Amino acid sequence: MQKSYTDALNNPIFKMISEAAEELSVDSYVIGGFVRDYFLKRNIPKDIDVVAIGSGIKLAEKVASKLEGKPQVSVFKNFGTAMIKSDGIELEFVGARKESYNRDSRKPIVEDGTLEDDQKRRDFTINALALSLNKSNYGTLLDPFDGIADLENKIIKTPLEPGITYSDDPLRMMRAIRFATQLDFQIALPSLQAITENKDRLKIVSNERILDELHKIMLCKKPSLGFSLLHKTELLGLILPELTALQGIEEIEGQKHKDNFWHTLEVVDNISEATDDLWLRWAALLHDIGKAPTKRFHKKIGWTFHGHEFVGSKMVFKLFKRLRMPLNEKMKFVQKMVLMSSRPIILSEDYVTDSAVRRLVFDAGDNVEDLMTLCEADITTKNPRKQRKYHQNFKVVRQKIEEVEARDHIRNFQPPISGEKIMETFALKPSKEIGIIKEAIKEAILEGEIPNEYKAALEFMYLKGAELGLQRTK
Ligand code: ATP
Repeated sequence: MQKSYTDALNNPIFKMISEAAEELSVDSYVIGGFVRDYFLKRNIPKDIDVVAIGSGIKLAEKVASKLEGKPQVSVFKNFGTAMIKSDGIELEFVGARKESYNRDSRKPIVEDGTLEDDQKRRDFTINALALSLNKSNYGTLLDPFDGIADLENKIIKTPLEPGITYSDDPLRMMRAIRFATQLDFQIALPSLQAITENKDRLKIVSNERILDELHKIMLCKKPSLGFSLLHKTELLGLILPELTALQGIEEIEGQKHKDNFWHTLEVVDNISEATDDLWLRWAALLHDIGKAPTKRFHKKIGWTFHGHEFVGSKMVFKLFKRLRMPLNEKMKFVQKMVLMSSRPIILSEDYVTDSAVRRLVFDAGDNVEDLMTLCEADITTKNPRKQRKYHQNFKVVRQKIEEVEARDHIRNFQPPISGEKIMETFALKPSKEIGIIKEAIKEAILEGEIPNEYKAALEFMYLKGAELGLQRTK
């Protein structure tokens, strides 16, 4: 007797689909991520894929007619799929199909097929598991490629020959690495080899799809797993050559620098323990990219990377543009983080003055906490004494930031004296003197010569005006 997994199907929607399919005299199965995640005891996903041995669109329409409120069916004729949103769940229906590919496109030639044909076209054995919704064997697992064993052994494997699977749809290379990272699975060796062999076919995949997978990898608990695999299969060099350029240790006259690629991956893992913010994780990934083009060796001082933060922040723009990522405030945030990524480090090395902290808060504004998080993640020394010391130093900087902010309100600095007030006081037309006075007031506040208050700033303005030989009107 085959085991039945009816407990996976306790949502009443499954009975409803089963009845609808019976009325249409078609067989139907739940397939893909829902079944995989049930066996992995992961959170049950909100999207459920149903395959019909017949028309998926007709089945979707029948199901919708039975559901309360008769939800709308979104039909994607070109793909032969239909989608219903009901009760926070997305139901995706497709007719079982057989696919064949030609070399220049990810678009397959599609014919009607059996359940097993449909399972063969799935990317991985763990994604090809199906549970029957048919009355005769409701809840039975259909697993022709032994996906259950691969789930148990934590293996990503393709149902068909891996070379064909990846060549047919090269997006699957990214998906393999993404699933391996999300689930902490190993990619089977023949698959890894096939990915490396087919890496150049990534060029037929749209940037959008690549980024989608890359972002999912970046949002994993330990993104370095994915980046190591991308590196190992040589896909990374095609997507982010700026990162692979950081790999390697050079030695001249007995002096070495650290491997900035593996260091970067550690920083990304560290920051992922502190934040789920995708863009802060991007900042961690890119914080050192300026180090490859700025690397120099000096006989006296050894290896230097002068100005790598500035160069790196310029590279962020080019990289975002190439990958067709949004050139919006998210990109500006990443640029700012890269540009400022060494600032708190300098502070934590020396005795921290209030004015240095005020300048940091002034420049970082609302992003000062994110910047500190990035710098803390940047500590990758293996020396426990140094590690403790650096963390302690940053703690002091964080404390100082709070103290200084409570007193001086620098974070969203607004000049306490406006340009109009300066013009009115000295009967000035728009001129460079106004800028000079405004800048002097700001500098005096940041240096701690005067508090960030209107009255003190007013007195300071009178003095500065007098120094410039300006007459007051009152
Ligand atoms: P997640 O929701 O975490 O991405 P999922 O497995 O549900 O996981 P989807 O992208 O929703 O992923 O895909 C649903 C199912 O469709 C997969 O489980 C797999 O069977 C199949 N599939 C998706 N993309 C491909 C692909 N490029 N090649 C072959 N099969 C695929």
